[in-house]
Amino acid sequence: MVGRLAGKNAIITGAAGGIGLETAILFAKEGANVLLADISEPALEKAVAKVKELVPSAPRLETRKCDVSKEADVQAMIESLDAWGGLDVIFNNAGIMHANDDDAINTPEAIWDLTHNINVKGVWFGCKHAVLALRRNNKTKGSVINTASVVALVGAATPQLAYTASKGAVLALTRELAMVHAREGFRFNSLCPAPLNTPLLQDWLGDDKPKRQRREIHFPTGRFGEAVEQAHAVVFLASDEASFVNGSDFVVDGGMSKAYVTAE
Ligand code: NAD
Repeated sequence: MVGRLAGKNAIITGAAGGIGLETAILFAKEGANVLLADISEPALEKAVAKVKELVPSAPRLETRKCDVSKEADVQAMIESLDAWGGLDVIFNNAGIMHANDDDAINTPEAIWDLTHNINVKGVWFGCKHAVLALRRNNKTKGSVINTASVVALVGAATPQLAYTASKGAVLALTRELAMVHAREGFRFNSLCPAPLNTPLLQDWLGDDKPKRQRREIHFPTGRFGEAVEQAHAVVFLASDEASFVNGSDFVVDGGMSKAYVTAE
């Protein structure tokens, strides 16, 4: 199969969720062999069925239950790709934003720890075992994409301190790894999505027009982004087209983080 990712072995974590699933679909369309990983097995089964339905020509699709906050899970998942010829691409995308995440005063320590275990340690484990796998399989190039967020770049007025700090950590660790491993041919980039048009968000906004407008006004485009718009950026970063893109905070936000907008 000819595609922009033909012959590449890729892992996507959080693959049953919004951005992860859209990315799995595009990776498969572009000819990658894809391992979809998530903490939820039932959600994974649904996700892989959707990819198979939409991309019947997908070369290789498998699923794996993995809790990214557990190093043994991440190590075993990445090592399992040695049987495919070794990992080429990993999208460390699994992440949570907990409902009890709040400001400096009201964020419970347990929520801070949970958020950082998944959003930061999970990404570290993914990067660590990706580097080991790329070396073990004598790869001269590899692409690691880590999901951060625009809240790592601009201050969010809605408090979610543990989440914001965790995404700042993702940006910083990704940048450093990009420098450390550049001469091995391993690229590390962060994806920074703006808030997306997810069912959760749409249900929450409902028919409340002022509530919706208070949020949409931040977007020069006047709309939220779609998960598939993130996935297109991930395909680029994963592909050899991005061979000179390294250490970037790759922002996909419709211009939101550069905007000074007013209502009319
Ligand atoms: P989502 O909730 O739809 O998907 C996240 C997936 O991660 C889920 O399938 C969930 O089961 C999985 N997951 C949770 N904990 C896990 C763990 N410990 N191990 C493995 N998998 C686990 O969310 P999404 O919107 O697709 O977000 C994906 C990434 O994008 C996250 O890192 C999120 O922080 C980031 N992000 C999302 C938005 C947005 O508006 N949706 C904006 C900026 C950044």
